[in-house]
This record gives sequence, C-alpha cells and structure tokens, in this order.
Amino acid sequence: NGGAPDAKNLRVKLVLLGDSGVGKSCIVLRFVRGQFDPTSKVTVGASFLSQTIALQDSTTVKFEIWDTAGQERYAALAPLYYRGAAVAVVVYDITSPDSFAKAQYWVKELQKHGSPDIIMALVGNKADLHEKREVPAQDGIEYAEKNEMFFIETSAKTADNINQLFEEIAKRLPRPTT
Ligand code: GDP
Ligand code: MG
Repeated sequence: NGGAPDAKNLRVKLVLLGDSGVGKSCIVLRFVRGQFDPTSKVTVGASFLSQTIALQDSTTVKFEIWDTAGQERYAALAPLYYRGAAVAVVVYDITSPDSFAKAQYWVKELQKHGSPDIIMALVGNKADLHEKREVPAQDGIEYAEKNEMFFIETSAKTADNINQLFEEIAKRLPRPTT
C-alpha cells in the first residue's frame, strides 16, 4: 500500500442522457440509494448525487452523477450539462424503438461535441419488461461495438446489472500514473 493515495481515489463526473421516461433517474436512485419507487414522477429529488465504489485492486471511484430534471427535452441545453464529463451513460428503453433512435442521436452529439476522451456506455433499461421488448439486444450490442461503447441491459426495477454498469465503467477509466 505504498502508492500515492490520490492515484487510487478517482473522482469522475458522469452524466446520463436519453429520452424522458427511459429510467435515467431510477437507475441513479437504484445505484445510489438501492431503491426503486414506481410511483415517483419524473425529477426524483436532487439533480446531483454521488456514490463511491471500491474496485478489486483497491482503487476507489467517486461518481459525481448529474441527472437532468427533464432538461433532456431541450437539446440546446445539453452541452452545458455534459461539458467536462468524463463519462456519459446513454440510456434507452428496450420497449421503445423511438428511445433507441434518440440514444443514437445523443451518441452522435457526444462524438461531435463531448470531450474527445469521454467514456460512453449504452444502456438498454427496463430489461424486466421482456414480454414487451421491441429493441433486440443484438441491435444494442452492434451499435455499441461500432461506436466503441460499453453496452449493458439493466433493470432499475429489479436492480439487474445496475452495479455492474458502474463497475464496468470504473474499470474503463484511465488511471493516473504516479
Ligand atoms: P427518466 O425520465 O429517464 O429519468 O425516467 P424515470 O427514471 O423517471 O422513469 C420513468 C418511468 O419508468 C417511471 O414510471 C419508472 O417507474 C419506470 N422505470 C424506470 N426504470 C424501470 C425499469 O427498469 N423497469 C420498469 N419496468 N420500469 C422502469
Ligand atoms: Mg429523470
């Protein structure tokens, strides 16, 4: 344990993008508080939450998570929101092809205007609604591969793959060299 502590304690700004209603706020609440509230209306609570995770190599990563309060409806405001973000999580709803198309729009937007070294994840949420699925997992996998993104399907409702999403992002962060 002789290394410089700062190299092992990372802090990153993470933003969520995607259509309204795909479950961005629910993903954040599940990750940070371990809760899912099916009755909650859009804008649940704070627009800024943080959560720290420890990786196996004893690195800790503090995610500073920016959740929109519905500003995703205003494309013009988005650059203010994702400026300086090290990580962008682009979310769609597996029951909504429209939300998948919108996710692709956000990916292009980030490729054009985000930080050049931004780490992007593509998330197909509401995976618990498999009987209503309209976006095949394979479509998400292929799109993510083409765009060098990490891909995962999650359910904020059942908690499936929520921690894995953030752990996989953490593993992909560049490590400062000491
Ligand atoms: P946001 O607008 O992207 O922040 O979406 P919200 O987090 O507010 O969620 C929108 C709606 O989708 C709410 O009614 C949630 O209860 C529901 N929801 C969110 N995540 C899931 C999920 O994983 N499964 C199911 N079945 N519903 C979800
Ligand atoms: Mg929200």
